[in-house]
Amino acid sequence: MICIFCEIAAGRATADVVLRNEWVTAFHDIHPTAPTHILVIPNTHISSLDELTDPDLAAQLLLACRQVAQAAGLSERGYRVLTNVGRGGGQHIFHLHFHVIGGRRLAWPPG
Ligand code: 5GP
Ligand code: ZN
Repeated sequence: MICIFCEIAAGRATADVVLRNEWVTAFHDIHPTAPTHILVIPNTHISSLDELTDPDLAAQLLLACRQVAQAAGLSERGYRVLTNVGRGGGQHIFHLHFHVIGGRRLAWPPG
């Protein structure tokens, strides 16, 4: 079955890409939940955080979250980085992705 995020990472599907390097791709969420809502994904297919074992890739993903947040001007107001794991955790796309969300007041705890 085709994975839409693999297609985006490979450049075969359209997305509003803000960062792409050897390890990761970051692009705007198609249904943003805040003024800034960016997804950061590994270029290789990993279904969720529960399957992530490569420490170098883990570091690249986290640093990319920081980089796109800073580039979007979120540092001063604050922002949120999260990943949903499994259906019970609210995951709908089974290719690991970190949501970088900001630009509005973010409540806690999430629903
Ligand atoms: P999840 O619920 O799996 O944590 O989040 C999946 C996210 O991917 C959702 O916020 C959804 O709006 C976004 N999304 C789903 N399909 C696409 C797509 O084809 N392109 C983009 N840019 N975002 C997508
Ligand atoms: Zn994939």
